[in-house]
Amino acid sequence: MKVPFNRPSLVGHELEFVQDAVASGQISCSGKYSDSVSSLLAEELDVADVLLTTSCTDALEMAALLLDLGPGDTVIVPSFTFVSTALAFVRTGAELVFADIDRETLGIDLHHATELIDERTRAVVGVHYAGIPADPEGFARMCASHDITYVEDNAHGLFATEHGRPLGSFGRFATLSFHETKNFICGEGGALLLNDEADIDRAHVLLDKGTDRRKFMQGLVDKYSWKDTGSSFGLSDLLAAYLLAQLEERESVLARRGRVSKAYEDRLRDPLESLGVELVRRRTRGVDAQHMFAMVLPNREVRDAVLDGLRSRGVMATFHYVPLHTSEAGQRFSARPSECPVTTDISGRLLRLPFFTDLDEPTIDRVSTLVVEELHSAISQRRTA
Ligand SMILES: *Cc1c(COP(=O)(O)O)cnc(C)c1O
Repeated sequence: MKVPFNRPSLVGHELEFVQDAVASGQISCSGKYSDSVSSLLAEELDVADVLLTTSCTDALEMAALLLDLGPGDTVIVPSFTFVSTALAFVRTGAELVFADIDRETLGIDLHHATELIDERTRAVVGVHYAGIPADPEGFARMCASHDITYVEDNAHGLFATEHGRPLGSFGRFATLSFHETKNFICGEGGALLLNDEADIDRAHVLLDKGTDRRKFMQGLVDKYSWKDTGSSFGLSDLLAAYLLAQLEERESVLARRGRVSKAYEDRLRDPLESLGVELVRRRTRGVDAQHMFAMVLPNREVRDAVLDGLRSRGVMATFHYVPLHTSEAGQRFSARPSECPVTTDISGRLLRLPFFTDLDEPTIDRVSTLVVEELHSAISQRRTA
């Protein structure tokens, strides 16, 4: 029997809400379910406004447009991240500068990012890898002192906190993803979080094809017209209905994912420690996002052997990001080369186990046993080779 890496699940009233959205007769963007999701998130995350988008990638593109980036500007992004973190900013004509990650958090390294700042730098984008806070307070302070913008790509860390404050509330902009591989899902979806009131009006215009349709719907203008750049960034209310049901169950989803994480840890902590394998987890206090179960193996050969072994036995474990600074497009779109040795090292050694809300104990038992077997075999083979 195969164990998939991820499996989306229904957690509450998803189908009922979708049915109701259809019956209500309005399923394009900015409907009643979108309003409910926005209010729920704005309140829980303590941000000024939340705009639902068709993806996290789109939300990042909106941040790039709101910054009026263009040729000559640069944006600092981590090399160890999903393509979208970087891609969204190059569409404006801005160029990238890649920063390395911190060994503890696997998020963007504050020291390296600060060193890379020059007169062309307009923004720094941080990713809270696995929902582990990548020093959001340090980045907010550092960016303010250089008069540049801090953006949080918080695709992994919804509802996690740092010193009591939600991730996503530190940057001028922050983004979320509701892609099927994330904790809370609607198939494809995202959100742009705004922490500066001054961005709200323009963000709604960009979301809605550059028009002031929102003001018209609110009765503030008697017709709506084309005002600015933008695109069709808004999430359908059908998907917002699905998403609301997921978010209503946030406590039970986090608790269930927390139990999966703990079950793996109970079975794997001691054997992994004795084999020189480190678990990826936050070392500071705070609410954990429970996004993934990942580990860093002793070297690339062992990682690849364990990955192959698990997959041949039906366990769909996986690696993670291929460094962006050495990718074809990363090199083409960067302003200058930079060195990211920690990214290269971690990328070659990281392994993620199947992890999803519905993962049951017998499967966790089986996966854990196979992980230890494959590790022993990969390590002893290398010793005798
Ligand atoms: C998933 C992910 C994205 C992209 O999210 P989409 O909603 O699929 O566009 C961006 N950044 C990070 C860090 C991600 O993990």
